[in-house]
Amino acid sequence: SIGRSKPLIVANWKMNMTLQEAREFFSGLTDAPYEHCEAVICPPAPLLYPLKELMQQAGISLGAQNLHEKPKGAHTGEVHGELLFELGCSHVIIGHSERRAAGETDEQVAAKVHQAIGNSMIPIVCVGETQLQRELGLTKEVIRTQVESALAGVTEERSPFIIAYEPVWAIGTGKTAQPSDAQDIHREIRQMLAEKKSIGFANRVPILYGGSVSASNIQELCAREDIDGALVGGASLQAHSFEAILKALR
Ligand code: PGA
Repeated sequence: SIGRSKPLIVANWKMNMTLQEAREFFSGLTDAPYEHCEAVICPPAPLLYPLKELMQQAGISLGAQNLHEKPKGAHTGEVHGELLFELGCSHVIIGHSERRAAGETDEQVAAKVHQAIGNSMIPIVCVGETQLQRELGLTKEVIRTQVESALAGVTEERSPFIIAYEPVWAIGTGKTAQPSDAQDIHREIRQMLAEKKSIGFANRVPILYGGSVSASNIQELCAREDIDGALVGGASLQAHSFEAILKALR
């Protein structure tokens, strides 16, 4: 993998887990801290603060699943980036397909990227085509639009940035992209980053794969040149299946 030396595994807990279940998850970990890869867990926002210490003890970084596109203000029910950083978040997922399907636009994604970077967090921008877009041969165009518009939120060449390629048809379905197909898309994405920013920028950006990742496919995926890690949903909800992914990368 070009983007980084250690594989990066990001757990996206989505709208799962109670505080009690999350505590049980941490007592179920047997292998932490992990030396050979970098691990990030993104719990639901109300769990960020109560889990901070358990995360630190396990050597796992804390991430958020979303942030608001504007700084603090009158936006009932929303969470601003400054607060997420204060709570210990180093990463934040932006533009997940479940949020895009609920109406999140490329413009909002760009504004959120800008907020994340401005508050010292690393944006993990999700991109990917739906089954229909794939069948219509639109995969590359869809991803180009998503990548290029997200980059509008990156003002500095040195800004941290992570892309997660998640084909929508592979999320939560048990269908994973073929590692060679995923590699082709990852290479295209790196090319887009190089064209829009620079080769140096493109080579620094980790490009993660997401969509039904598990211990049985992670190794083959991460063996590819441009696959720098994974964004994991379902398989990150149990301590044993999450650790099995990390162990498979040894
Ligand atoms: P999955 O979800 O691993 O359950 O397919 C991945 C994601 O949506 O980030």
